Amino acid sequence: MTDAADHAPVGRLTVICGPMFAGKTTALMARLSEAASRGRRVACVKPTLDDRYHPSDLTTHDGKSMPGMAIEAPDDLLSIEADVVGLDEAHFFVTGLHDAVGVLLARGVEVVLAGLDRTSMNEPFHEMGALLIEADEVVKIAGVCAICGREAVHTIRLFDSKAPIVVGGPGMFENRCRVHLHAAPDSGASPE
Ligand SMILES: [Zn+2]
Repeated sequence: MTDAADHAPVGRLTVICGPMFAGKTTALMARLSEAASRGRRVACVKPTLDDRYHPSDLTTHDGKSMPGMAIEAPDDLLSIEADVVGLDEAHFFVTGLHDAVGVLLARGVEVVLAGLDRTSMNEPFHEMGALLIEADEVVKIAGVCAICGREAVHTIRLFDSKAPIVVGGPGMFENRCRVHLHAAPDSGASPE
C-alpha cells in the first residue's frame, strides 16, 4: 500500500434499523449532531416520498426535527458535498441506494442510514439486506409490542394492502413481538 493510500479518507457505513416507532430517526439525528459538533460537514437527507411531517427536514414521530434536504433518487446523494451523509427512511428506495452508497464510501464519506430492515411481509426491505451486509456498524433498535409490551422486531399493517410501500404512521402500523406476530389487533390484551 502506498503512503497516499494510507492517508486517503476511509468511508464508513452505519445502518440504524429496526421496526417502526423504535427511535431510528432520533438515533440518526444524534449521530449527525455529534458529527457536526466535531466540525464535520453533515448532510441530513430523506426521500421526497416521506413528506409526512415536513417536506425536507428530518422529523421524528414525537416531533423532533433537524434541517435537511429531500432527494428523488439515490444518485442525488452523489452531488452532496459533505463529510457525513445521513439518510433517513433508506428503505423507501427500491434500487440504486446500494450502488450510490458504494460510491460515497469509495470517496471516504461517512454514511449513516436509518430505515426499516424488513417489510410487514417479513422480507428484507428493498436493498436494506445488502446494505446491512455492507455496513461497518449495525445499530438494531427494538420496538415495543403493541399487545404485550415486550421487545418487538416486527411491524405489521393494520390495513389490507399488498402495496410494497405505504407511507404511514401510528394507527396504520403496529409493532409486534414474535409471540404476537399474527395476533389480531385489539385482541383485548392490555397495550402496555
Ligand atoms: Zn407481544
